[in-house]
Amino acid sequence: MATSAREAQQGAAQGIRTGTEYIDSLRGRKLKVYLFGELVDEPVDHPVIRPSVNAVAETYDLAQRNPELGTALSPYTGTRINRFLHIATSADDLVNQNKMQRRMGQLTGTCFQRCVGMDAFNSLHSVTFEIDEQHGTGYHQRFLDFVRDMQLAGYVIGGAMTDVKGDRSKAPHQQADPDMFVHVTRRTEAGVYITGAKAHQTGCLNSHWLIVMPTMRLGEADKDYAIVGALPVDADGITYIYGRQSCDTRSMDGDLDAGNAKFAGQEAMIIFDDVFIPNELIFMDGEHDYAAMLVERFTCYHRRSYVCKSGVGDVLIGAAATVADYNGVDKASHIRDKLVEMTHLNETIYSTGIASSYQASEMKSGVYLNDDMIANVCKHHVTKMPYEIGRLAQDLAGGLMVTMPSQKEFEHPEIGDLIRKYLQGRPEIATEDRMRIMRLIENMTLGRNAVGYLTESMHGAGSPQAQRIQIARQAQLGFKKALAKTLAGIAPDTADEIAGDLADYMGRVFQTSGEAD
Ligand SMILES: Cc1cc2nc3c(=O)[nH]c(=O)nc-3n(C[C@H](O)[C@H](O)[C@H](O)COP(=O)(O)OP(=O)(O)OC[C@H]3O[C@@H](n4cnc5c(N)ncnc54)[C@H](O)[C@@H]3O)c2cc1C
Ligand code: SF4
Repeated sequence: MATSAREAQQGAAQGIRTGTEYIDSLRGRKLKVYLFGELVDEPVDHPVIRPSVNAVAETYDLAQRNPELGTALSPYTGTRINRFLHIATSADDLVNQNKMQRRMGQLTGTCFQRCVGMDAFNSLHSVTFEIDEQHGTGYHQRFLDFVRDMQLAGYVIGGAMTDVKGDRSKAPHQQADPDMFVHVTRRTEAGVYITGAKAHQTGCLNSHWLIVMPTMRLGEADKDYAIVGALPVDADGITYIYGRQSCDTRSMDGDLDAGNAKFAGQEAMIIFDDVFIPNELIFMDGEHDYAAMLVERFTCYHRRSYVCKSGVGDVLIGAAATVADYNGVDKASHIRDKLVEMTHLNETIYSTGIASSYQASEMKSGVYLNDDMIANVCKHHVTKMPYEIGRLAQDLAGGLMVTMPSQKEFEHPEIGDLIRKYLQGRPEIATEDRMRIMRLIENMTLGRNAVGYLTESMHGAGSPQAQRIQIARQAQLGFKKALAKTLAGIAPDTADEIAGDLADYMGRVFQTSGEAD
């Protein structure tokens, strides 16, 4: 891999366009990756890793099949680029991101891994601009040069925000071990060296470049932790430790037992040991007062990116409806009602995400930022609703979902026929199909893709309490109290005062389309 963004772009003159080109681009990179206690020779060909590569490859193939949805016209290259690399210059751009995310969830049934980089790009656009404005630094132009190079090359960007964090009650500089948060250890004229570790990094091995960012609000004493920079995934000094997923070795056991043999998500821990970032790829260094702004803007984008789960939910609802059909109970009123409930929950996730994107504002840098209140409401729904949708899918599946024998028994010369006979549902449905749909539900609610559909829904983009804090901050209780007091006839609030207080979130709610930003 080239070590500068410019070399990388020149090396990929046409840019990566198809899923096959993408998969080829990942080969031969000599990454240091540990999985099951061993160094992995070629991650792309490892049976546990490959389904996660396929999920990212699908983002390229979608762009080929449906360029309206999967690509956007870049103002930086003047060409159509993959939408995951696009900087949003309108509310429509944000809405289209959400539509693409739902579609990708439908096509893969898992986490397709590219949204963290997309949301990091969009948040850094405005934050670098505003740092420059206050500090006279040159981050924004550097960042735009990097964005352009990545767009031309068609690369995948991983967003590395979450540190391992040690004692959660302490700031970075208060930790017993300073490496609990990624930080600058030394500086040279050419750049900085960083050390530390990032946890739960989605799709990091499947990326070409990583952007490291701070994970929380930082103070003056945490200055060395206020570092944002880009680096190639195969930079010297990086070690990846692959995360185990529930039932991940099913991917080595044959396609029936896997449930979803083709697609999966990916998370790994990234350890940085004295890793160099050259000056031209540094987008924040020491401006600690902008760490909170970056985290808040990133999570604002990312919390509504979780409409991805509505696409995955579409698959699970379809699986539940199919199993009910195969079991001969699809016309029962409680089954229909449960499918309605699942749909209602799923569309609630989608509605809030898409509403947040529609209610966007233009930032000083020209990028659009979706609505923070509704993004947090969307993500907070996501911490709960997929669990209820999963519970209902398991209800409709029946217990066989967790007690059925393996593919080896199904194919066994002696007992295979017995399984086909005794695990038959409706006689016109092949027993194998009934097993396949149950394995898919198992995969999504208990297996590999439950990581993406359930626990990632809980903690990804911040645990539930992080959303409640943001919702509380924007709740405008004073304004709402004034509304109530006025109607109750409690002085001194008046209707005029209330009308004049349409600020912050309420200001965005009542902005009419004629008052575009
Ligand atoms: C599948 C998956 C994929 C992810 N992908 C990415 C990624 O690509 N990039 C990335 O940067 N991050 C990623 N994340 C990380 C995600 O943002 C974090 O999981 C999330 O911020 C929570 O951090 P944590 O896991 O360390 O949990 P913890 O911080 O340990 O939280 C556990 C509990 O403790 C509470 N808690 C934590 N700190 C405090 C405190 N100071 N006071 C009171 N309560 C506290 C939390 O609210 C929560 O209830 C991913 C996570 C998952 C699960
Ligand atoms: S969890 Fe959803 S939003 Fe996040 S990277 Fe995966 S698919 Fe994208």
